[in-house]
Amino acid sequence: MSSRKPGKDTKTPAGTRAPRHEAGPRDHDSVALTLCLQKPPEKHGSISTGHAVAERPPHHGSSSIGERFRDYKRQLEERGGTLEPTPRVYTCALCHDVGYVHPLDESGRVDYSRVVPCEGNNCAAARYRKYQRGEEAARARGVRSPQQTFETFEQRDGSRQALSYARQLGDGSATFIWLLIFGGTGNGKTHLCNAMARESIRRGVDTRLVSVADLFAALRSAMDTSKGESVMAWYKQTQFLILDDYGVQYGSDWEAARFDELMTFRFANYLPTAMTTNLDLVTLPERIRSRFEDRRLSRIAHNSAPDCRSTLRPAV
Ligand SMILES: [Zn+2]
Repeated sequence: MSSRKPGKDTKTPAGTRAPRHEAGPRDHDSVALTLCLQKPPEKHGSISTGHAVAERPPHHGSSSIGERFRDYKRQLEERGGTLEPTPRVYTCALCHDVGYVHPLDESGRVDYSRVVPCEGNNCAAARYRKYQRGEEAARARGVRSPQQTFETFEQRDGSRQALSYARQLGDGSATFIWLLIFGGTGNGKTHLCNAMARESIRRGVDTRLVSVADLFAALRSAMDTSKGESVMAWYKQTQFLILDDYGVQYGSDWEAARFDELMTFRFANYLPTAMTTNLDLVTLPERIRSRFEDRRLSRIAHNSAPDCRSTLRPAV
């Protein structure tokens, strides 16, 4: 065996390198093992194993978990931290940002069986409800005349059925999901569209009101910018779509195909849809008309007006 040069590592028989610090301080495992083999030291703070006494590694500094935890807590507090849970800060002290509160009954006790909307001054939920009731939200969803509501609708004999159906679809009490209102111009069909949209938006339903002319214009311009499919998908998936004034726009094969695609998707997915037209029902495309004539899901209301020359009777 040749003599080893100073500073070089020693090769073990297995071919692994031995520690570089042969004569230096040993690691903790080595210390513990050595102490176990020696006579148990008579020192305070040691652990008796029954057979041998091992001294704790010196770096812990404390002799129990409790002491180490107190050390950690003290150091944390010296740095300005705390282990106490941070109290939640609510924007609305009345409802704790839930948006609803339990009312008081006649005797002044809290009635836990009921909830009512919170009306706190700092309540975000109350502000959102106020926004939903306002004209700003309605205009953002396509309502051009927010003042046209069910309350301001002037009911006439020929519009009773149309008003009833529109109100049911708007307030969510309807047992149908598709509604077609047909009749002559100037008898309040657009007013009913605005009223339906406002009532539906007020209830928090994702609603969109659009005239069919504007719908085709949006689709055409989107096609030019290669965003046609996303615009189409948006109209397809809107929770409640109100299409006003279908008729004169129905022209090219492309428009017919896109409109048919939109209506087929919404009918197949049971998405509430309302449409108005001043055309006679017989002039509507068969595929569109047949869906509105499906009594399981749809209703047709004839909003009769003096200039309406329809020969069909309302399907009620
Ligand atoms: Zn509140």
